[in-house]
Amino acid sequence: MQRIYLDNNATTPLDPRVFAAMAPALQGTYGNPSSLHWFGQQARAALDEARDEVARLLGASPGEIVFTASGTESDNMALCGAAATASASRRKVVVSALEHHAVLHAARSLGDGGFVVETVRSLPGGLVDMDDYRAKVDESTCLVSLMLANNETGVVQPVAEAAAYARGKGALVHCDAVQAAGKIPVDVLALGADLLTISAHKLYGPKGVGALYVKRGTALRAFVHGGSQERNRRAGTENVAGIVGFGKAAALVREELPSDGPRLCELRDRFESKVLAIAGARRNGGGVRVPNTSNVSFDGVDAESLLLALDLAGVAASTGAACAAGGIDPSHVLRAMGLTLGEVQSSLRFSLGRQTTASEIDQAAEAVVECVARQRKVFALP
Ligand code: PLP
Repeated sequence: MQRIYLDNNATTPLDPRVFAAMAPALQGTYGNPSSLHWFGQQARAALDEARDEVARLLGASPGEIVFTASGTESDNMALCGAAATASASRRKVVVSALEHHAVLHAARSLGDGGFVVETVRSLPGGLVDMDDYRAKVDESTCLVSLMLANNETGVVQPVAEAAAYARGKGALVHCDAVQAAGKIPVDVLALGADLLTISAHKLYGPKGVGALYVKRGTALRAFVHGGSQERNRRAGTENVAGIVGFGKAAALVREELPSDGPRLCELRDRFESKVLAIAGARRNGGGVRVPNTSNVSFDGVDAESLLLALDLAGVAASTGAACAAGGIDPSHVLRAMGLTLGEVQSSLRFSLGRQTTASEIDQAAEAVVECVARQRKVFALP
């Protein structure tokens, strides 16, 4: 059976060119980058090259990139590290209700530690409510965290506008760009972010490697203690092969985004034109979206049953964030957008990738049409 992978927001396949770049780093370049001898310096040079590429992808300087073990770690490092340096008069952290759990749960832990955590509402279309945001961000705010693209709907948030407002109040700005990098251009200066998270496995790189952009001069307390790696920002011997893969993936994304973006947008729209033609199908998330993501509710259909039926038909989709998939937690993002529990439980996310073809899109859309019809028949039985 031909299998069609439409769950690229959960993770992307490793690009073969990334794999090829990683192979020498896994075998020959085995020195410790902190060692002074030739072996160590080979590994150091490989790290430096990767750091340059990741920095270029974000419009940052290489010295502003800290490698971590995941997007989750970068988010935690940003929130906990920035809050730890906040003055006594700034005890408020502002996040949006649409954030990934890596941000929401890190914020919750800050709340447990005595910070006031404010959560900004979403508008029905999946955009953060900027009126609510402006009401919550004030001179007592030490940090704001707002994602650039939502993982479930693909909706692009007004980060530059939010950052300018937060800066005016003297707060630091963290942006979770995990789902944006590789899908739309991400420029730290244009966004006005002090801290920004990306993750390699969401852009055709390896799993277990993340990066945090830390604007030069930003006070940030280290989160992992030990050696002096990553300019004392993050201790631990670097994952050299993973970072090399991240660098290659970043370079490819930078070169190919101008052609990949429009192609994916066209395929996503083609998919939606077929799927939204189903009676009782509605798209979740409007306005500006990243090109690869489509979130759709199907009235009267249980999303988990549909997901399994689609899997049997060879199509991989998702009921939401990967960490919540399989669990009973309904999507907090769709709930924040005002969907009823029933609507949330009838919603599926389809996320396309670099490898997705037009014929896959047609086959997948056909499978969705058939499976929805079959589900409705089954559930309509007495
Ligand atoms: N932030 C967002 C928006 C995500 O979608 C994800 C992963 O799904 C993460 C953070 C966490 O990244 P990682 O899987 O590298 O820990």
